[in-house]
Amino acid sequence: ADNILEVRNLKKHFHVGGGKILKAVDNVSFSIKRGETFGLVGESGCGKSTAGRTIIRLYDATDGEVIFNGENVHQLKGKKLKEFNRNMQMVFQDPYASLNPRMTVGDIIAEGIDIHGLYSGSKRKERVHELLRVVGLNDEHASRFPHEFSGGQRQRIGIARALAIEPQFIIADEPISALDVSIQAQVVNLLKQLQKERGLTYLFIAHDLAMVKHISDRIGVMYLGGLVEVAEGNELYRKPLHPYTEALLSAIPIPDPEVERHRERIILEGDVPSPINPPSGCRFRTRCPKAMPECAELIPELKEVEPDHFVACHLYK
Ligand code: SF4
Ligand code: MG
Repeated sequence: ADNILEVRNLKKHFHVGGGKILKAVDNVSFSIKRGETFGLVGESGCGKSTAGRTIIRLYDATDGEVIFNGENVHQLKGKKLKEFNRNMQMVFQDPYASLNPRMTVGDIIAEGIDIHGLYSGSKRKERVHELLRVVGLNDEHASRFPHEFSGGQRQRIGIARALAIEPQFIIADEPISALDVSIQAQVVNLLKQLQKERGLTYLFIAHDLAMVKHISDRIGVMYLGGLVEVAEGNELYRKPLHPYTEALLSAIPIPDPEVERHRERIILEGDVPSPINPPSGCRFRTRCPKAMPECAELIPELKEVEPDHFVACHLYK
């Protein structure tokens, strides 16, 4: 397959004082095929945003590699780096905080165009109008300010800004989490439509599996800095292998009351441990209903246990 992105043994550790190290992302590996959407899911603090930010080079990597279009992202310089900065863009979680309140919407959208010196004058204006229409807004919106827009509209502005310099790849970090449920589907549909029209590849980050269901081709589940399971979307929903994925899925309501009645909800005991001092062996073991003695000793590696279905758990040999 043609992988646009390969993440290999990626680590992002932070020194947090007192000689302590927070292992936000610890040995994460996955790949994304050109044109697909990869959903990265996990509770807050699991390292999914940090992984996204390290992939796009907002952070240096502590160790490991990020390969984009065959090149090691963290070693790019000069012209190649500029090209990378064009090809990979980010849409942020909070459409309130991520748009500069003192800039007009037109200038916000044109930021990348200006940085890369792509268009000026009437061509630039035309391009901004075109982008506004592409995301379902209109030309008059260019001269307004972010506070005049609703959350859903602001996220559309964020998407237009990301599209302005025609990237190949977009990291969407919880793009719908801050939006009303009624608006979430609209933004997801817009992203899907743009992907179809432009052949975009997405890394779509979310905190629950329900949010990535309708957009992801494949899904990776993170827990406490590590990737615990990766599979094609339908496969993961139908047949979760990791006990953590099972628990996450059991929390999603199923519309069919007959199915819902016979379903067992898995309640996880305890809190997520600190990534500064994670449990030995399997990091999920303190909350895992299926933990065995060996889980405290050995770190389970992410292994392909069925075709294209990867899991990090000692239950699968
Ligand atoms: Fe549970 Fe052990 Fe599997 Fe970890 S390795 S998820 S503790 S069974
Ligand atoms: Mg986050």
